[in-house]
Amino acid sequence: MDLSTLIAANVLILSVFAISFLAISFRVSPFGHWRSWALANALLASALVLFAFDRKLPLLAAYLVPNTLLLLGMGFHWHAARQLANLPSRISNVFAPASAYLLVASLSYVTSNYALAYTASNVIFTLLCVATVFAFTAPTFRGLISAIGLILAFFFIAAEGMMRTAHSLFYSGPAGPGMMNDMSADLHLMCALLFATLTGAFSLAVSFEQVAQRHREAARRDPLTGAFNRREFQRRLEELLQGTSADTFGLVHFDLDHFKSVNDRFGHLAGDQALVEVSKTVRRHLRSDDCFARLGGEEFAVILPSISRENAFKVADRLRKRIAELRFEFAPEGFQLTASSGIYHGNGDGLKTNELLQIVDNGLYQSKNTGRNRICVASPYATIDLPGS
Ligand code: GH3
Ligand code: MG
Ligand code: MG
Repeated sequence: MDLSTLIAANVLILSVFAISFLAISFRVSPFGHWRSWALANALLASALVLFAFDRKLPLLAAYLVPNTLLLLGMGFHWHAARQLANLPSRISNVFAPASAYLLVASLSYVTSNYALAYTASNVIFTLLCVATVFAFTAPTFRGLISAIGLILAFFFIAAEGMMRTAHSLFYSGPAGPGMMNDMSADLHLMCALLFATLTGAFSLAVSFEQVAQRHREAARRDPLTGAFNRREFQRRLEELLQGTSADTFGLVHFDLDHFKSVNDRFGHLAGDQALVEVSKTVRRHLRSDDCFARLGGEEFAVILPSISRENAFKVADRLRKRIAELRFEFAPEGFQLTASSGIYHGNGDGLKTNELLQIVDNGLYQSKNTGRNRICVASPYATIDLPGS
C-alpha cells in the first residue's frame, strides 16, 4: 500500500471511533473518559493529516505542530485510561508531555537538527504508552478480559515507539520534518492502523464489560444497604449445601427488634438510615468471603463459610453487641437498637435451603419470645439459648 492510502485508512478508522466515542459520551459513564478518547482519536487523526502535508507547512510549524498533536493525542489516551481506572488525573497530564516536546523541538529548530525533535517525540510517545499500560493494570480492570487487549495494544505501540527511537539514534534520524520515504514509514503506519483498530474495538468492549459487571452487581445487591439480596443469598446457600465440601459453616439470621417503633418515633428516613448503619457495622466485622444479605425489611442473614462452632458463635455475638452499641444521629442519648438472632452451625445435615432457613428462623423466633437482643442456637434436633447472650 502506498503512504497516502495508509494515512487515509488510519484517519478513517480514528475518525469513525472518535465519532462513536463522542456519541457514547452522552449516555455512558464516565462521560469525561469517552470525551477524552474521542479527543485523543481526533488529535491523532489531525496529526496524521499534517504529517502527510507537512512539506506544505512553514518549516517552524512542520517542526512543532504534527508531533505536538500526536503527543497531545497520546496524552489524552493516558488521561482517558486513568479516568476509566478511577485514578486521579489532571489535564496537565496531557499538556506537560506535549510542552516538553515543544521545548525540545524549538531548540531543534534553532539548531536545524530535526533528528533531536524526532527522537524527543518518540521517547515521550513511548513513555506515554507505558504510562497508559500501567493505568490499564489498575484494580478497576480486574476480571475484564478486554482490558488485556488494551494493555497489549498500548504495549505493542510502545515497543514500536522504542524501535523508532532506536532507529533514529542508530541511523541519525530524518534530516528534516516529513515522513521518511522508506519501508519504515509503511511499517509505522501499518502498526498505527493496527493500534487504532485494536484500541477502538477494545475500549468499546471494556465499556461493555464494565456495564455488564455493574448490572450483574446491581442484580445481586440490595440498593439501600448494599448488602447482598435474598436471591444472591439463596444461591450461595444452595451452592454451599450442594457442594462436596464437608467443611462446617455458620448461618446467622437476625431481625431488628421493635423496628416499627423506630419509624413511628423518628420517621421512615431515620429508619432507612438505621438499616444502612447496621449494615455498615455488620460488614465491618465480617471476612471477605462471608456473605451478608438483607432478606427483606429489617431482616438480615450472614453465611460464615468454613468456620468452627466456637468462632461462628463469637462472630454472631460480636455482631449482636456492635448493633446494640450503635448510636444514631436522629435518636436521643440512651436509645438502643437491638437484634434477635438464630444461628445454625454444621455441615448442612443433608438439609435443603428452605429447611435450613426454617430451622434458623425457629432460633430467631425463640430469641424474640425469650426477651430479644439475644441469640438462640438452632439445630435440626433442638433450639437452645446461646449462653452469655
Ligand atoms: P419485632 O421486634 O417483633 O421484630 O418488631 P418489629 O417492629 O421490628 O417488627 P414488625 O414486623 O412489626 O415491623 C417491621 C418494621 O420494619 C415495619 C416496617 O415499616 C419496617 N421496615 C421494613 N423495611 C423497611 C425499610 O426499608 N425502611 C424503613 N424505614 N423501615 C422498614
Ligand atoms: Mg423486627
Ligand atoms: Mg421482621
